Amino acid sequence: MSDKSIETDALSADFTHEGGCLCNAVRYRVRGSALCALVCHCRFCQRMTGSTSYANAVFPIDAVELSGKFNIYAHTSETSAKAVYLHSCPTCATTVALKFERWPQYLALSRGTFDDPNWVAIDAHIWTQSAQAGVVLPASTDCYRHARTKLDGSPQAAEQFAVPVAVRRDA
Ligand SMILES: [Zn+2]
Ligand SMILES: [Zn+2]
Repeated sequence: MSDKSIETDALSADFTHEGGCLCNAVRYRVRGSALCALVCHCRFCQRMTGSTSYANAVFPIDAVELSGKFNIYAHTSETSAKAVYLHSCPTCATTVALKFERWPQYLALSRGTFDDPNWVAIDAHIWTQSAQAGVVLPASTDCYRHARTKLDGSPQAAEQFAVPVAVRRDA
């Protein structure tokens, strides 16, 4: 996010992408590029999605326009003790966006809810320490055992695998 030229930023402010829930009752439009896009393997994301992981793209909150009536559920993070606000559709239950007590200036959009999910490239996998058995972590991609930063904001080290790694959880 810091290595982009001024021209790219000027250009990126002009393009928009849209998405929404399964039933189309809630929608959003986002302006410009994502600050980052992550696949998270933490247990919160596994439960929230009912799946192996949660892919999301993070934007400045001012770049996102939400439309429709959202159901908002506040979950207290076990890690930070701060609230994560799940924004889901009251009709079809799709979780479309997350807001954060800890980072009020950011909003995460669920990558799978974009009309074209592939416009956002994944930057990293996080919380790989709780990745489920059978999940394959990609090669040549930053993988973090925990979050990308510690609670005090200092960076954590990433690992990169030479070949894809299938997670095993045998005793
Ligand atoms: Zn819906
Ligand atoms: Zn997570």
